[in-house]
Amino acid sequence: MTPQDTTLPYRDATLPIPQRVADLLARMTLEEKVGQMLQLDARDDLEDHVLRRGVGSVLHTSPERIVAARELTLRTRLQIPLIVGEDCIHGHSFWPGATIYPTQLGMAASWDAGLVERVARATAVEVAATGIHWTFSPVLCIARDLRWGRVNETFGEDPHLIGELASAMVRGYQGDGLDDPTAILATAKHLAGYSETQGGRDASEADISRRKLRSWFLPPFERVAREGCRSFMLGYQTTDGVPITVNDWLLSDVLRGEWGYTGTLITDWDNVGRMVWEQHVQPDIAHAAAAAVRAGNDMIMTTPTFFEGALEAVASGMLSDDAFDAAVARILTLKFELGLFEDPRQPLGGLHAVVGTAEHAALNLEVARRSMVLLENDGLLPLSPTETRRIAVVGPLADDAQEQLGDWAGGSGQAGWLDGQPREMITTVLDGLQGIAPWEVVHARGADILDLEPDPAGATWPDGQPRPPIVRPVPVDDAQLAEAVAAAKGSDAVIAVVGDARGLYGEGRSTATLELIGGQVALLDALIATGKPVVVVLMASKPLVLPASVSRAEAVLWVANPGMQGGRAIAELITGAIEPTGRLPISFARHAGQQPTYYNQVRGQHGDRYADLTQSPAWAFGEGRSYTTVAYDDLAIENGELTASDTIVAHVTVTNTGARPTIETVQAYVRDAVTSVSWADKELKAYRQVALAPGESARVRLELPVAECTIVDAAGARIVEPGEFALLVGPSSHEEALLPAAFTVV
Ligand code: BGC
Repeated sequence: MTPQDTTLPYRDATLPIPQRVADLLARMTLEEKVGQMLQLDARDDLEDHVLRRGVGSVLHTSPERIVAARELTLRTRLQIPLIVGEDCIHGHSFWPGATIYPTQLGMAASWDAGLVERVARATAVEVAATGIHWTFSPVLCIARDLRWGRVNETFGEDPHLIGELASAMVRGYQGDGLDDPTAILATAKHLAGYSETQGGRDASEADISRRKLRSWFLPPFERVAREGCRSFMLGYQTTDGVPITVNDWLLSDVLRGEWGYTGTLITDWDNVGRMVWEQHVQPDIAHAAAAAVRAGNDMIMTTPTFFEGALEAVASGMLSDDAFDAAVARILTLKFELGLFEDPRQPLGGLHAVVGTAEHAALNLEVARRSMVLLENDGLLPLSPTETRRIAVVGPLADDAQEQLGDWAGGSGQAGWLDGQPREMITTVLDGLQGIAPWEVVHARGADILDLEPDPAGATWPDGQPRPPIVRPVPVDDAQLAEAVAAAKGSDAVIAVVGDARGLYGEGRSTATLELIGGQVALLDALIATGKPVVVVLMASKPLVLPASVSRAEAVLWVANPGMQGGRAIAELITGAIEPTGRLPISFARHAGQQPTYYNQVRGQHGDRYADLTQSPAWAFGEGRSYTTVAYDDLAIENGELTASDTIVAHVTVTNTGARPTIETVQAYVRDAVTSVSWADKELKAYRQVALAPGESARVRLELPVAECTIVDAAGARIVEPGEFALLVGPSSHEEALLPAAFTVV
């Protein structure tokens, strides 16, 4: 009997998957089962991982190590294929020459689920071809505090928008089914409430009740669980004293119980070990391993000693021999669903035909064009390249190809085998603007942002992970500043590209402030003081606070981290070759002290301002300008009195009243007049995007099931409460911008 022997039932592809799983499980030793639950870092000792611990999965693997790991599995007794995971979260993040798209937050500004699905599909094609089977994406965390370092990984602050886009991304990754060789496993992460930080600090106690979880945090997860997302990842948080890794209520009762989830559950990085060394809620690794297994975790990410701990837990009677069977069966099921026993999906030959293709670059440009949000424009934009003689392109981010890609990209530090993506694949803002004739472009950097210094507390955490370095803002350099001012003075207009940089975002890299750092504020102040028209391009991973002088700039454009084609898209927008159509998926604060600024806050506060500052955000959720104007009229609901099983059908007339085309995002919010418990004042429930030529009018139909007009009651049940409601339709969450129409639920 050899493992390759197709007469063994688990090797027989004609048999149903449950039968193959049962056969293989019955052949496995205790050690093999425990190993199968481990996902370890492929940058470490692969031989030890595969041959001694018998891991089921590896992550963070370079191209060469995928092949090496496969060869090692062929030396194991049962030759169970590895499932290979990676954080391919806006493209194939760590593959040299892969297509890197705008960050998830950038893509969210498109509000275009179809486009996001196409990006995920194209990403899956690249990822699958390189021998990776599993991406740790999408992120369904709600951005609640702008100081948090991982805001860039989210789809923003609204549960409905997150649900729409996450669902699209999962469909894109998983394609027509996991047996399709271009399908990869999607991961909904991080379950759940991880983003409810304390003061924006990463992975702190999430002070959050079950009702609050059900109200805002769980709905996007529930949606993708029911739609077939095949893996879920936990966060790092503890809630009400319980680390998520052992939160039996959420993992068993809600996820697997209520939502009927049958896929795999993976911990976050060393969550099992953290219960011992960080959270101090388990005395040793054996107890931690036992607790994690009992709570229903399937795959244990990067806690190598889980292996010894779990075996010890069995030896000491904390776990029974068969305690691992359910988890291992789920992992094996995925491997069979992916067809890995028949085809371990090694890197394909001729990768250049699949990875970083011209077709994907075109899609990347399309999504970058849709991901930019024009926040202010006094009429300067679009700038005509024929009527503008010379422009100054200044700022530390105008021509920094790797910074432009943001976190989870070749240069962001999570993977050791590359320090960036090929420069020639990336168009910076300077490249983009220089590519446009006939104007003359002068460039000066004008300011630096930061230096990084080692943390004096030590290079690593107790689990061996690197501690993030400390950010030191770079002081103003007078000569550098003077050069930029001279460039501005000699030009007809200034494009100033400022923002944040690696070191200021990412895991463990939350910020206390939201201001531009280094020489950037001085640069903007000086440029604006020249009296030349200034366009501020904010290339920032997350909403930042701009200095007061920017109120005198002619235009402000937020581009997030816009991906490899970002510079070209920005140049096209500035020159009017394309229209600005992005809308904010997240509100911008005026001051860090305003946190939180998300629009869907709960009613019932004394007053509505700080003594020394308004509470209103600088720019609110849903906002974004076009080069035209759009009027909203005649909102009407077809049926004003409804029951809980009806659908609200509303119509609104949108008219392009300006001289340029646009894509208008028609947003529909719902306000429940009286609720049995306090609730958000209004919530986005539907939206539609409509292309409008100059002068064109459209009667837009909006449909919204009454069943969506829910609250979560005091007992934690999501229900529709009969009574009066308002449907609010308009171009953003701004109250003044919305047309109301009343309806009643009987
Ligand atoms: C992050 C996850 C990520 C994992 C693997 C963790 O630290 O929180 O989002 O998927 O590392 O890289």
